[in-house]
Amino acid sequence: MIRINEHYTKLKASYLFADIARRVAAYQQAHPDKAVIRLGIGDVTEPLPPACIEALHAGTDELAHRETFHGYGPEQGYAFLREAIAAHDYAARGCDISADEVFVSDGSKCDCGNIQEIFSTDARLAIPDPVYPVYVDTNVMAGRTGSAADGRYEGITYLDCTPANGYVPALPAPGVVDLIYLCFPNNPTGAVAPREQLAAWVAYARENRAIILYDSAYESFIRDEKIPRSIYEIPGARDVAIEFRSFSKTAGFTGTRCAYTVIPKNLTALDASGKEHSLHALWNRRHTTKFNGVSYPVQRAAAAIYTDAGRRQTRALTDYYLGNAALIRAAMQKLGLPCVGGDNSPYIWVNTGRDSWEAFDRLLNDAQVVVTPGAGFGRCGENHIRISAFNSRENVETALERVAKAL
Ligand SMILES: *Cc1c(COP(=O)(O)O)cnc(C)c1O
Repeated sequence: MIRINEHYTKLKASYLFADIARRVAAYQQAHPDKAVIRLGIGDVTEPLPPACIEALHAGTDELAHRETFHGYGPEQGYAFLREAIAAHDYAARGCDISADEVFVSDGSKCDCGNIQEIFSTDARLAIPDPVYPVYVDTNVMAGRTGSAADGRYEGITYLDCTPANGYVPALPAPGVVDLIYLCFPNNPTGAVAPREQLAAWVAYARENRAIILYDSAYESFIRDEKIPRSIYEIPGARDVAIEFRSFSKTAGFTGTRCAYTVIPKNLTALDASGKEHSLHALWNRRHTTKFNGVSYPVQRAAAAIYTDAGRRQTRALTDYYLGNAALIRAAMQKLGLPCVGGDNSPYIWVNTGRDSWEAFDRLLNDAQVVVTPGAGFGRCGENHIRISAFNSRENVETALERVAKAL
């Protein structure tokens, strides 16, 4: 008799964004004449940069002729893209990462979700709270946790991010965790980690033989030159860290799909007998077995981000969203609400001091603005809302006028 993977039954009933969509749909049905503005889900709104569109067209045209046609490519990604990544995202910032340590994929969500399968089922987890739900849920599915009580799963060391610590979590006690998820600039809080803070995490991982999974999907929003964009800017990180990056927020690729994961070749972990194994080799085995590469035109479009025009255009794109973020942040401060993020990040994390679903409902009903209730990201998200800068300037301005009247 076939049975299910019962770990799935431990998951919370619904995905946060499905819950939000249901409430918004119900509101729109009841008020068909009201225009709702979405500053909730973290999806981009502006079109792809022209350099990417040109490369996408040119790449597609190559597929139209036998002489330039491409079938299956290398699972790890084409050399032209891996080399551009290594040169511009790493060598240019003094990080020692080579092209063959880069694995191109169709998204960081998949990579962040899939990476856990190369680690033992009894690996002990450290996961921030609030957090991007993918890190937690994929480990629940894999059976690394007990059941949930009071919004928290048994077996996870939660790293509390609160107003008191500036939303940058403290280190766990020595020797209690093996796999550490970090995300900076953070989703949902928008907080960034100063160099000393990241260095402390790297030192912890080195002393405790732990691995850091570093999600830097939002690094292109960093404007403060003192803030590291990559964990590999910290000396010693090559021995303890895997980094995830995505073109989704950098260049508007949420629907186009392209991202990458970096695994240094010297990164190892032990088996039960104490023998060292290369994580690069394990991930390479997994990636080539379960993944068949990103489409050729999309990889061409991604490589175009690194041309002079592409860099100018993606910078303008992120500047545009950061302009929205600055307006949102200023408006919240004017309302007397403490907030973080929005300066090196497209998210503003607002401490509303009231039940976060209640704040969500109030903004939906009174201002027709959709935000994300903080509680959906974890217990420490209660009393907060996340406002996203991913929308047009006009919509952001209209939304802020309505919010100011409603609150
Ligand atoms: C948007 C986002 C990603 C990127 O996901 P893709 O699958 O590459 O679109 C990764 N991590 C976080 C925290 C994100 O918010």
